[in-house]
Amino acid sequence: ASLSSTARPGIPARRDDLAGEEPYGAPQIDVAHLLNVNENPFGPSAALAADMGAAVAEAAAGLHRYPDREFTALREDLAAYLAAESGIPAPPAEAVWAANGSNEVMHQLLLAYGGPGRTALGFTPHYSMYPEYARDTFTRWVTAERGPAPDFALTAAQVTAAIAENRPQILVLTSPNNPTGTALDPAVVRAAAEAMLAAGGLLVVDEAYGEFRRDGVPSALELLPEFANLVVTRTMSKAFALAGGRIGYLVADPAIVDGVRIVRLPYHLSAVTQAVARTALAHREELLSQVATLREERDVLAAHLAERGHVVAPSDANFIFFQPLLRTAADRHAVWQALLDRDVLIREVGPQPWLRVSIGTPEDNAAFRTALEEADPR
Ligand code: PMP
Repeated sequence: ASLSSTARPGIPARRDDLAGEEPYGAPQIDVAHLLNVNENPFGPSAALAADMGAAVAEAAAGLHRYPDREFTALREDLAAYLAAESGIPAPPAEAVWAANGSNEVMHQLLLAYGGPGRTALGFTPHYSMYPEYARDTFTRWVTAERGPAPDFALTAAQVTAAIAENRPQILVLTSPNNPTGTALDPAVVRAAAEAMLAAGGLLVVDEAYGEFRRDGVPSALELLPEFANLVVTRTMSKAFALAGGRIGYLVADPAIVDGVRIVRLPYHLSAVTQAVARTALAHREELLSQVATLREERDVLAAHLAERGHVVAPSDANFIFFQPLLRTAADRHAVWQALLDRDVLIREVGPQPWLRVSIGTPEDNAAFRTALEEADPR
């Protein structure tokens, strides 16, 4: 028998609840215009790549030792960045926590605050990984619906009703949301924090796309001093163009961080990861100027789609959720395929017949517009 044989006798059965499950992931296809996983299209400048190389070389000299298990220098840098980005006073390093992507941060949160007999609540359409964190941690995952398209908004009444009905230990709100791109009204986030505080539960606000929010939209970070039960998660994958570096983080009361520290694996954040993250943070001006470009490109593309007659969800993220012109389920796939045939990969995700396109470089966005004229003609 060969190791590649899947039908080999003697393979033990998986956990019952994992039977038939597939690993999560969007197709990784080699095309010219990758607009399917909300990556930042701008690679590091030569200077930044060189600095990262130097930081990794320095870390390499010490790789025979385990890394700083508490990554204090990185937590201090993240705290200083958050203060500069959202105008809040810098949180103490103990209020910040990082892991290999915000996926791992959320997984650790569910490990520590979910678990058997506990419930986590989210609003659909939501990021596809949430139910998987819950499954892995034996947490019950329940959902309620966001409001109608194209805003997919939530009201305080909807959120408090869903909390009263489901009595979750954890509520996950995503703002800006994936796949819709829409940001929540800050009054709704506040109402959710109050209701979860009264219920003794945790509110997690996933701000993976927070830096792309439009002017005047506040971050939930502002609510942290008021709510001991609030966690705000962020990532370096999007605004910092560091999807390949795998660094996500959270800010919360240090007592909540202490819960996460119990379930984290020792030395989960490698010395190489820490060095790369700190170098990217040191170059934040360069990286955040690209965020400004992406926000402008997004607004121009959204206006273009609306002008073509598409239904478009208002976006505070680095992607746009829109309907093909013919608006049937069959058309969504046909349009996706016709774009791929023209070297433009976008994402079929969320409710029919919506499609999601990430904002790329000006060249990517122009290629998308040209391909769309042919794939979904007016
Ligand atoms: N939250 C949301 C809403 C996301 O869309 C993503 C990634 N697409 C993540 C979290 C996880 O990202 P990462 O693990 O790269 O930080």
